[in-house]
Amino acid sequence: MSSAPIHCDVLIIGAGIAGISIAERISREAKRQNKHIRILVADSAPMLASGSSSGLQGWFHTGSLYTRLDSSESYLNCVKSHKILERDYANAQDFNHHLNCNLNLDTQTNKPWFGDSIQFVLDKPDQTSWTQQVHAMTTRLRAIGCSFDPSKQIDTNRYTTISTTDRSMMTCNIISSLADSAISNGTKFLTGHRAIELQGSDTNEPITLENVNGLRRQVHASHTLITTGYNIPNQPHITFSRRSGVIVSTTPCLDAPNIVRVAQDPANNVSHIAHPSIASNETGFSAIGDSTSLSDQPTPDECIKTAHHIMHKIKSVFGNQAFDGRRIAWHMARKIEVATLDKDSRTFGPKLYELAQNRYAVIPSKFSLFPALANMTLVQLIDDGLFENLNAPATNYCNTSKPYVAPMLSQQALGITPIQTPAYRYSGKLNSVRPTENSRSFSMTQF
Ligand SMILES: Cc1cc2nc3c(=O)[nH]c(=O)nc-3n(C[C@H](O)[C@H](O)[C@H](O)COP(=O)(O)OP(=O)(O)OC[C@H]3O[C@@H](n4cnc5c(N)ncnc54)[C@H](O)[C@@H]3O)c2cc1C
Repeated sequence: MSSAPIHCDVLIIGAGIAGISIAERISREAKRQNKHIRILVADSAPMLASGSSSGLQGWFHTGSLYTRLDSSESYLNCVKSHKILERDYANAQDFNHHLNCNLNLDTQTNKPWFGDSIQFVLDKPDQTSWTQQVHAMTTRLRAIGCSFDPSKQIDTNRYTTISTTDRSMMTCNIISSLADSAISNGTKFLTGHRAIELQGSDTNEPITLENVNGLRRQVHASHTLITTGYNIPNQPHITFSRRSGVIVSTTPCLDAPNIVRVAQDPANNVSHIAHPSIASNETGFSAIGDSTSLSDQPTPDECIKTAHHIMHKIKSVFGNQAFDGRRIAWHMARKIEVATLDKDSRTFGPKLYELAQNRYAVIPSKFSLFPALANMTLVQLIDDGLFENLNAPATNYCNTSKPYVAPMLSQQALGITPIQTPAYRYSGKLNSVRPTENSRSFSMTQF
């Protein structure tokens, strides 16, 4: 079964942070130049950003963490992206959510992008090599303005804490600001539509979208961007690192600092990012993630084992009682990065590579690098003549209703601590469930 084809100028497949930020940036630039560019963002899920961008696991890397890596390129990529964040978002008067980009943390807004700063927590060293590593890291961190800041919540006999220039990132607020701006600048979203045969997308054939009822639509676009994250097609000359991880969350959020615990064994890294409630009808929560160390297709048992392991580690930092009366849940998340051959010297940076003429796959590598990614893609499409070769508006250009951003996490109860808090449901506009045209209904998983 198929219905009439869609014609547009830019088709973006995948509505995670990559797809949404690119659509927003192009549509804003089109408005600035007073040009009409038909942008369609299609996603297989019923809501926006329900892939790895939905986990709220992230913190905003201005680079502190990457001073630790051998490759200084990751650090430089963070700095570059930060500059673009200031220019294209925080200080951009044509971005109608610029006040939400609260880089100085002082701005009063009900949808702030950034929260408290992050502290590194280092085990008190007892091995010479580790002592040297810690020394090297703290020297580098001091050089970029980080200071030691012992915290009352963390046992300073066992851990050393360092304040950093990184911050917690309210990814759901960022996504909703960007989606809102994209929509107000004319971008259309089509949720509940999966692009099929992505692996063969290195041709200029139209892309076929299929909804859950099997209804197919072909999309003819002059420029196509594939931002499907984990499902990015394989490429002969590029090695991807595809990994899965478990993110554990607790609600209400912990009354404790945001931390990244950097352990000697990287599999034991652990982080705590608090997302306090902003609106009165929402409950805050904390995300506690490990570094994505699970196999490519983990079984539920593996996930649960890892979730318990994370809880064990985080409790050893904050103490058991910090979790009394809190709900604990987990969800699995997947991510894709472009890996170098030597996996020990990974470099994080946004990547755009050509599949066919005017067809690209795009990978942010990190959520926080979306400003650089959106800018890089806009520049590429301008080079490709997007703003010069515009078609007349077509009658078949689809017009969907406003889509809704996925809830922060879809959780599965871990059952570690007794549940004493009242049942918690996400509420408010962000979590409204409105299936769009032909999409399947979606029910929220509760803690
Ligand atoms: C455990 C973990 C911890 C992380 N920590 C951090 C951190 O601290 N800081 C940070 O900056 N980043 C972090 N990241 C990385 C960050 O989350 C990702 O790099 C980023 O969210 C990727 O965004 P994306 O838009 O490329 O992919 P996604 O958000 O996954 O979006 C892809 C979209 O494409 C859709 N899709 C897939 N296939 C199809 C198809 N065939 N047709 C149509 N739609 C399709 C999906 O439904 C999805 O909505 C972490 C990731 C993980 C997993």
